[in-house]
Amino acid sequence: MRTSQLYISTLKEAPSEAELISHKLMLRAGLIKKLGSGLYTWMPLGLKVLRKVEAIVRDEMNKAGAQELLMPAVQPAELWQETGRWDLFGPQMLKITDRHDRNFCFGPTHEEVITDIARTELRSYKQLPANFYQIQVKFRDEIRPRFGVMRAREFTMKDAYSFDASFEGLQVTYGKMHQAYSNVFTRLGLKFRAVAADSGAIGGDGSHEFHVLADAGEDLLAYCPDSDFAANVELAEALAPTAPRAAPTEALRDVDTPKQTTCEDVAKLMEIGIEKTVKLIALVAGDGRFVIALIRGDHSLNEVKLSKVDGIGEFRFATDEEIRAKFNCPPGFLGPVGIAADIQVIADRTVAAMSDFVVGANKPKLHIAGVNWGRDLPEPHVVADIRNVVAGDPSPDGKGSIELCRGIEVGHIFQLRTKYSAAMNCLFVNENNQQEPMEMGCYGIGVSRIVAAAIEQNYDQRGIIFTPALAPFAVAVVAVGYHKSEAVKAAADKMYAELVAAGVDVLLDDRNERPGVMFADMELIGIPHRVTIGDKVLADGQVEYVARAGGEMQKIALGEAVAFVQ
Ligand code: ATP
Ligand code: MG
Ligand code: MG
Ligand code: MG
Repeated sequence: MRTSQLYISTLKEAPSEAELISHKLMLRAGLIKKLGSGLYTWMPLGLKVLRKVEAIVRDEMNKAGAQELLMPAVQPAELWQETGRWDLFGPQMLKITDRHDRNFCFGPTHEEVITDIARTELRSYKQLPANFYQIQVKFRDEIRPRFGVMRAREFTMKDAYSFDASFEGLQVTYGKMHQAYSNVFTRLGLKFRAVAADSGAIGGDGSHEFHVLADAGEDLLAYCPDSDFAANVELAEALAPTAPRAAPTEALRDVDTPKQTTCEDVAKLMEIGIEKTVKLIALVAGDGRFVIALIRGDHSLNEVKLSKVDGIGEFRFATDEEIRAKFNCPPGFLGPVGIAADIQVIADRTVAAMSDFVVGANKPKLHIAGVNWGRDLPEPHVVADIRNVVAGDPSPDGKGSIELCRGIEVGHIFQLRTKYSAAMNCLFVNENNQQEPMEMGCYGIGVSRIVAAAIEQNYDQRGIIFTPALAPFAVAVVAVGYHKSEAVKAAADKMYAELVAAGVDVLLDDRNERPGVMFADMELIGIPHRVTIGDKVLADGQVEYVARAGGEMQKIALGEAVAFVQ
């Protein structure tokens, strides 16, 4: 393609609302354009990148024996009522009503729809195993859409769903998907790690997440370099053996106060954390009574439930009103914390570790302790806190000790077992002519999130550095003086034609622009190889070559350039 035909719209500065480097660069490079909160158009250049991700995902899914289909984005409420998720899924689900007053949702995921297909299409063990996938748009009304396509409301997911006749069969299928995911991220050229994960709102038994490793990642991963142990910290906390530690109230009594925080700060912190970054909040009154909330991934503002703990062991749900009354919290203090959802009791060792963010608030004295507040807060505290919780502990498998890193969740696989098949009567006839619910698995990849995650891992001050697998073009040919020099024009057109003939995805920059502008654009867009054709070097029968990922500019003979960049 020629830049004269391609719609390119690059920006010198990113719009101020973009915080994350990938978001800034995607906007600056003109890959995406914002329509509304969490809603993005993929512009032609960005779409090329998205399609490259899709192609690799599709190829690996096909190789693993999955079959592609395409389900509707809009789903009838009745299916979700069968599993109870119409009420349980929470406000991430966008509910819609048609002209006949029938309820629908814009699918945040497709377990119900695929199970409905399976229960009518698959009836005998002879038809199993089966694995169906689609690459399709999902809508989740995220409480805090942010970071561009990284946490969008409408986003592209590859979701696969498998049906097996036995648990052993499911494990084989799950293993194949695990391998297919590893192949996808390896082919994309990304540094990634598969970790044991919490199965969250989707449910089921075994679960792994695939994370692209990047400092900006919202998740904290615990792994052991000496063993296979790797887990999302929220799960690692649950797995780590509980060492006896000081009683929580004591541990909290003798903490020092590094920072005085106001109630407003706390309210803000909680708001920041609500999406998923705050894993743990403790509100401790001066007399040692405390409230602990573990807020898990998907629960938004009005889904958050606080568990109230009066000393270890005692545990019940409490509304924010109750908590506010009990602790005489000033108005607004618990304001951002809504009601209702998912809570776990926290081990006392975790409580003992919560020594940071101690605050003197109004009456009575309130302490706040936090673990994993997320990237919006001072990082050292976050890491220190988590280290208190898990690092230095042996791993759960008894080998070595735990290390930590940050990751962006780009894939998630689950062994659902019979959660959906039992609820929806998705049965098959086994070899003994008896009916059994199918053993299901589900497997998601954040196709659009991958583009942002890849950029988080590969950029420099000049812009994006796409890995070859993701780059919108493999080679940029920058023709300096295309409109002024016959020689440049002839050489550039010839090289372009040869590269196209060789099947190389080449972008010929034939714009009537200053060389600096052309170089800056090609660098910002992140094209892996750049060949520059200009009068000066051309006179010596040469062109200039430079790799986007780094390295010196080199001169190569004009006749060798096409072979060189392939
Ligand atoms: P997160 O923890 O980031 O909210 P999730 O656990 O809710 O993600 P899953 O239900 O596991 O997401 O969905 C499968 C994949 O879809 C995720 O691994 C992620 O890559 C992608 N994904 C989920 N939510 C979003 C979103 N809001 N924007 C872009 N991609 C998303
Ligand atoms: Mg998650
Ligand atoms: Mg989520
Ligand atoms: Mg997930």
